[in-house]
Amino acid sequence: MKVYQGKSVYHGIAIGKIRILKKEKRNVVRSHVEDVEAEIRRKAAAVDESMQQLKQLYDKALQEVGESGAAIFDVHQMMLEDQDYQESIENMIRTQEVNAEYAVAVTSDNFAAMFEQMDDDYMKARAADVRDISERLISVLLEEKQDLDSKDDKEIVVAEDLSPSETVQMDKSRVQAFVTRFGSSNSHTAILARTMNIPALIGVDYTEDMDGKLAVVDGFQGIVIADPDEATLAGYRKKEAEEAEKRELLQTLKGKESVTKSGREIRLYANIGGISDLQAVMQNDAAGIGLFRSEFLYLEKSDYPTEDEQFQVYKSVAETMAGKKVIIRTLDIGADKQIGYFDLKKEENPAMGFRAIRICLKRPEIFKTQLRALYRASNYGNIAIMFPMIISVTEIRKIKEIVEEVKKELKEQGIPFKEVELGVMIETPAAVMVSEELAEEVDFFSIGTNDLTQYTLAIDRQNGELDEFYDSHHPAVLRMIRMVIENAHKKGIWAGICGELGADLTLTDTFLDMGIDELSVSPSCVLSIRKKIREHA
Ligand code: PEP
Ligand code: MG
Repeated sequence: MKVYQGKSVYHGIAIGKIRILKKEKRNVVRSHVEDVEAEIRRKAAAVDESMQQLKQLYDKALQEVGESGAAIFDVHQMMLEDQDYQESIENMIRTQEVNAEYAVAVTSDNFAAMFEQMDDDYMKARAADVRDISERLISVLLEEKQDLDSKDDKEIVVAEDLSPSETVQMDKSRVQAFVTRFGSSNSHTAILARTMNIPALIGVDYTEDMDGKLAVVDGFQGIVIADPDEATLAGYRKKEAEEAEKRELLQTLKGKESVTKSGREIRLYANIGGISDLQAVMQNDAAGIGLFRSEFLYLEKSDYPTEDEQFQVYKSVAETMAGKKVIIRTLDIGADKQIGYFDLKKEENPAMGFRAIRICLKRPEIFKTQLRALYRASNYGNIAIMFPMIISVTEIRKIKEIVEEVKKELKEQGIPFKEVELGVMIETPAAVMVSEELAEEVDFFSIGTNDLTQYTLAIDRQNGELDEFYDSHHPAVLRMIRMVIENAHKKGIWAGICGELGADLTLTDTFLDMGIDELSVSPSCVLSIRKKIREHA
């Protein structure tokens, strides 16, 4: 028995036979060609064939993991047809009179190196994609057969890293877990594992001798146990069965209403950070999005996302949710979420510093761009907007003035938009204390318990050493939640929770007794909360 430690990017228990995916290190040989035009035609035919393969992979992925998981193969088609990429290959064939495989391999290295040097994480990640499409092209040119389907029944796929085309070509019914040496929490493998609902670990320093061995992947502890002893295996088999049973049971709740025994319907929504989370929202049957952390859109970029870029994302989320409520929170950066291009000054006390709505009010051009994008997208679904880190009525009045300016401009420009609900995130004690007044200004409240706990207990949520003091069950926090709900109802608006506490099953009954109207949680928590709601008297 040997235990390998890694980092879990998705939870769960899996038991299966390890298959280490070895990428054949292909040696592309340089050879001289006489007829360069014939070689270019051979390359063109291989590009056509590769495009066909990518289209098929797109369709396969669409069926298996949905639109967001399939999108990468659209990107690959675009990259394969990219003029600069194609010209570089042709140019090399013509001027150096070399075979197409060699020209593709060199172009691949050059383009990948260029992407890797870019000062932008998104572009850096494209290096893997350019290698992926080039490998495909070379493989077609060499008339190789691809065989990524597994032979054994239940298997744990172990690899250095997994490219999207490798993962999509696998027979998913057999794959029980992904384990890689490299990759990140946001890698394609992690996203896919989340969508397939199987455990995935990254950063595992595995050894070749585990190939073919029976193993357990524990996605809760982030470990792989190769060759487990009898007792360990028996323990995990039991755990695996319990997990499966829990999942099965929860699946029966899909399509059911989130209604208490007394008939009170609760809005059970999901929290997302971007489009890639939508698949999980659908699979877990959330009734809407209760918190879209829009700052991720800014964090992914190396410069301010334009109005149009933002509009496309918001529109796509609104359309995908097809009329269900989509609550988008305006930019919440500062504190733990720093972005270089915002050029924010270093602060002594960032959690209490220049963050969230404070930045938006001081730099209205950034705020207005986002609001314009949001209002434009409102025409394509059921969008609501909420504002983070509010401490006063003055702030919300100022925000509403800016919103009115944006709407006026759009109207004058003949750009269509719908009226949207506006809400306040209640995540400071000040907002709690003035919640009765705030309720007169907006349509809903969403309680951000992560920050509310931090500011109420005066404990930096980022400081792991204070974890034992960070008690979100503290009576002060719970009383504040009660007060917010009461004040909301007094003024006829609804109140929800979008912080992590909303998913705490030990508090669901308490929140329901307090009269909570909405709970917005991670997609994977939706069904267990639904169960709890349906059991509530
Ligand atoms: C919160 O503070 O509870 C919240 C939902 O916002 P974030 O965690 O993004 O600060
Ligand atoms: Mg917050």
